[in-house]
Amino acid sequence: MAKSSGKKGSRRINQDLSTRSVHAGEPRRKYADSITTPIIQTSTFTFQNSRHIEDYTKKGKEHFEYGRYGNPTAKIAEKRLADLESAEDCVVFTSGMSAITTTILTLVQSGDHIVITDDSYKKTLEFCRSYLKQFGVDCTIVPFGDYGILERAIKKNTRFIFSESPTNPYLNIFDLIKIKKIADKHNVLTLIDSTFATPFNQRPIEFGMDLVLQSCTKYLAGHNDILAGAVLGRSELVEKIRNLHKSMGGLIDPHCCYLLLRGLKTFPLRVKKQNETALQVAEFLESHPRVKKVYYPFLKNHPHYEVAKEQMTGGGGVVSFDIKGSINDAKRFMDRLQLCYIGPSLGGVETLITHPALVSYYDYSRKERYQLGITDTLFRLAVGIEDAQDIIDDIEHGLKK
Ligand SMILES: *Cc1c(COP(=O)(O)O)cnc(C)c1O
Repeated sequence: MAKSSGKKGSRRINQDLSTRSVHAGEPRRKYADSITTPIIQTSTFTFQNSRHIEDYTKKGKEHFEYGRYGNPTAKIAEKRLADLESAEDCVVFTSGMSAITTTILTLVQSGDHIVITDDSYKKTLEFCRSYLKQFGVDCTIVPFGDYGILERAIKKNTRFIFSESPTNPYLNIFDLIKIKKIADKHNVLTLIDSTFATPFNQRPIEFGMDLVLQSCTKYLAGHNDILAGAVLGRSELVEKIRNLHKSMGGLIDPHCCYLLLRGLKTFPLRVKKQNETALQVAEFLESHPRVKKVYYPFLKNHPHYEVAKEQMTGGGGVVSFDIKGSINDAKRFMDRLQLCYIGPSLGGVETLITHPALVSYYDYSRKERYQLGITDTLFRLAVGIEDAQDIIDDIEHGLKK
């Protein structure tokens, strides 16, 4: 399965991802010999004596000083995430958006320019388009999938290309090999939001991406109970981001890190099942007479099927589909569901369905929505870990006339 070809570290590099998800970053012996990770619920840390201080300040011995500068429970989460993603280093944040915005702010200064693809996460786009302007940072939004336009958008002052793969809601796949070539040619950094893929399905750093962003809220924590985020990459870049994070101050709390670590232990089991279920559901939907179109990267008719197969282990747990009929047919379908919960987000144990037109794009006009491809009858299904047939039965019931 997911053996890593990655860097050498403290870990034994031949261990499978499923093993490392349980153990990576975790000291073998812990406080009171507990098997689980202790939650170090403290805002400050003490020094034993003056020599201890100097060992820390002058000799760089590992020690924690103050909660905003780091916490041992968070450190374990960072080490584990870095290991899974084949990254040298990682910083965890209170949310995926906190990771994304802090990372971007670390990299740009007034007069810079960035390139971002148009089907990036809505709040990421909004941040780049609106807020970065306030700091004199210019942003070009390019249509996803057109690498010619993307390359031509790069200017002398471009700092990075930001993209996502797979994207929401159409599960477009960004060609990591192509983008690496373009980025190298123009000497710009590559940032990729890999939330939909997770390190089980795709490890962008192994394709040469500079920084990976994760909303750990989704698959990595996996239980719809916390918000968390991470940035991963080379130490030299990640350390700069960590430093700004210490000033911004929105630090994740240790209990939340504990829940993230607990979620991580089962994440390969869950994602493997979610990959399988989503593919089964996608195939079912494809054969259903009331379904107009299905979007899933591991279906042969998906426009990026070849690239997806090349760079991903599985297609992920999200399937989008358009049903026949009007918005009222869409509402009727959704209202008949009994197992799938109606709600945003993805990657948790419960299956969730969302109707982008009514939720994320409720404040857009119908014309604006259709320009973005958000039709009245489009759904995004994020499968949980329930039995695949039970999910299919629920959808089949919902689609009955
Ligand atoms: C959810 C999500 C985010 C934002 O993460 P939060 O943890 O909600 O802040 C960013 N990118 C993608 C692709 C997401 O799905």
